Amino acid sequence: MYGAMQRRVARRVMVGDIAIGGGAPIVVQSMTNTDTADIAGSVAQVAALARAGSEMVRLTVNTAEAAAAVPHIRDQLAAKGVDVPLVGDFHFNGHRLLTQHPVCAEALSKLRINPGNVGQGSKRDDQFATLIEFACRYNKPVRIGVNWGSLDQALLARMMDENARSAAPDDLQVVTRRALVQSALESAAQAEHLGLPGERIVLSCKVSGVQDLIAVYRDLATRCDYALHLGLTEAGMGSKGIVASTAAMSVLLQEGVGDTIRVSLTPEPGGDRTREVVVAQEILQTMGLRSFAPMVIACPGCGRTTSTFFQELADKIQIYLRAQMPVWRAHHPGVENMHVAVMGCVVNGPGESKHANIGISLPGSGENPVAPVFIDGVKAVTLKGDNIAGEFQALIDRYVKEHYTS
Ligand code: SF4
Repeated sequence: MYGAMQRRVARRVMVGDIAIGGGAPIVVQSMTNTDTADIAGSVAQVAALARAGSEMVRLTVNTAEAAAAVPHIRDQLAAKGVDVPLVGDFHFNGHRLLTQHPVCAEALSKLRINPGNVGQGSKRDDQFATLIEFACRYNKPVRIGVNWGSLDQALLARMMDENARSAAPDDLQVVTRRALVQSALESAAQAEHLGLPGERIVLSCKVSGVQDLIAVYRDLATRCDYALHLGLTEAGMGSKGIVASTAAMSVLLQEGVGDTIRVSLTPEPGGDRTREVVVAQEILQTMGLRSFAPMVIACPGCGRTTSTFFQELADKIQIYLRAQMPVWRAHHPGVENMHVAVMGCVVNGPGESKHANIGISLPGSGENPVAPVFIDGVKAVTLKGDNIAGEFQALIDRYVKEHYTS
């Protein structure tokens, strides 16, 4: 196990211009849920995910139409100025799709192969080899992504037999965890044997249980130096998905394990796919591992706040700050480290506001209807009247221009 915040140093893998491992910042990934054959829909969603901050976007490549669409998606994104690396997700028929549509391999920045879904028996090795040959031919890295739900059954059966013959057999869960790691390592060794350098291999072993994920990655991290993609698969919807992903990944990230992450949230019907990107960024930012957007510190509110005004202001400021990031990122470097406090009353308001770069302490019940604003720890102005929100936003804009313009 690695010490707190002491990063495991993996071999560095380049995916387009993005580095994974080798001490590079932890990369945020996401995946589309459009039909890849729907070019316009997929372009729009990839662009939205990239705008939200996804540094790599995966698309499923499951049919001939999807494989044929990938180069067009790449071209249309380029025409929009979106250069986020695209990852192709292949299962069952990937060998055939790439053989029929080699331009698909060319347009992708990385291939993802699930060794449990490559094929059965002797076909498995041939089909796996075909996928690796495409990666070698087009100089593409590969993520060998093992998944609990599609674990190589032949490997599991072999390991179960070995376990049954041992003097002190382990239970099924322990053997399955071991088989996941074994599947990833054996497939990586096979890929290297076929000519794919270790510097082009990323491994993942995704499971849906928090304790299983922690155990599996601790094992995997100590048994290889490949870059690791981290994620809890099928995390679920809403707060459950966010909490489970955060719980599992935080433990591993704190131990230095994980070079790239994805939060596999199930969106609510009509929900925004970009939420998984925001959650992944917030995990990394709240842990102090990376900064993506200014952080809003807001109190939870209590009986001392008589209106929803302060909640609305905190929400509005958070949305405003994130919406500015595509422009601010380019013109105001360092702004992602800014802290903004929005507090509900005088109890903790001035104190917390003084700790932020810029903070506002709104009036609680029974207090004077005024809102002191603190800038860099000093009370700068007191706002009152009907336009407190607008005036505070203008002060934030001014602070950004004055402090984060190179
Ligand atoms: S700062 Fe004031 S309003 Fe906010 S939680 Fe604390 S006491 Fe309540």
